[in-house]
Amino acid sequence: VPMSRHPSRPRFVAELSQCLFDFVIQLLPTAEEMAVKEDVRKLLERLIRTIEPDSRLLSFGSTANGFSLRNSDMDLCCLIDSDEKLNASNLVTMLGDLLERGLPLGIACDIGFENRLALENTRLLMCYAMIDPTRVRTLVLFLKVWSKRRKINSPYTGTLSSYGYVLLVIYFLVHVKNPPVLPNLQQMPPLRPISKEDTHLGGHNTWFFDDVELLRQRWHSENTETVAELLIDFFRYYSRDFLYNTSVVSIRAGLLKKESKGWQSEYPPGRYNDARERNRLCIEDPFETDYNVARCVTKDGLYTIRGEFMRAGRVLAGRPERAIMALADLCA
Ligand code: ATP
Ligand code: MG
Repeated sequence: VPMSRHPSRPRFVAELSQCLFDFVIQLLPTAEEMAVKEDVRKLLERLIRTIEPDSRLLSFGSTANGFSLRNSDMDLCCLIDSDEKLNASNLVTMLGDLLERGLPLGIACDIGFENRLALENTRLLMCYAMIDPTRVRTLVLFLKVWSKRRKINSPYTGTLSSYGYVLLVIYFLVHVKNPPVLPNLQQMPPLRPISKEDTHLGGHNTWFFDDVELLRQRWHSENTETVAELLIDFFRYYSRDFLYNTSVVSIRAGLLKKESKGWQSEYPPGRYNDARERNRLCIEDPFETDYNVARCVTKDGLYTIRGEFMRAGRVLAGRPERAIMALADLCA
């Protein structure tokens, strides 16, 4: 139904944008929470350094990429810079003990080792967030809350991780929207030549244009849609247009075919059932391109997720009196 047929539709959409901002703002972590988390990171880093002096403890995931919600847990990554990693097992034991007993101030955290790719993909998402903070952050944060409330943000039970939803949003803004809301940072040429060593990590090309200050001066999207318009269209795209059976979402390369990645779901029955289950929904990792970020999504999980996209589309297409009611409905 074209928007213009309903005189109050534009008003609803404008109001919805405002509601989305207001809704998301009250869910952001406070400055105090961020400071406490940084203190905890420093404390843990000091502890780790008593065992392994050449190590660093860095935060990644939502605490570091600008997409964190109040009271979300902290993802930390331990990098050991020396060549002899003799004390690694002591370190793991010590951290295991510590995390089991619980951290000060009730902060929940996960600590991984040497996960350099995760640090890079965190930085990539952060750069995307910084190019158009208002629209990108509002959309991502809203979808995170929505997916948690609707119980479709749980890779352990067959649905999608927050990381997966963020990639769906970025893909939509870079490759689906025309004109695009965001540039493709991985395909922009570097300002000066760089060596292969500087762009590759464990055989993966991790290069992307990360001079955000320059981008903010030079990149001006022709797309003027509001957050509400983008959200409505996001739900429409993933409930109606995206071809789940054959397509792969890639923020690096745009729309890909499962076939071209060897991710097709049509394996012969029998021992390949597991592989088929793994590739129901296909989202290519930005750097680890042979890795399907949505591999945990099961047949039932995908059915539920798609059902939720459709439900959301319906809620926003109906004409509730007030946008705030639509938002409450959406997350009910
Ligand atoms: P939340 O606030 O819900 O914890 P988050 O932004 O921290 O959200 P997570 O899904 O916890 O998102 O992911 C944190 C980081 O872990 C990501 O930035 C990514 O580097 C890595 N990660 C998470 N899930 C995957 C995955 N399926 N494949 C690869 N990396 C992942
Ligand atoms: Mg996290």
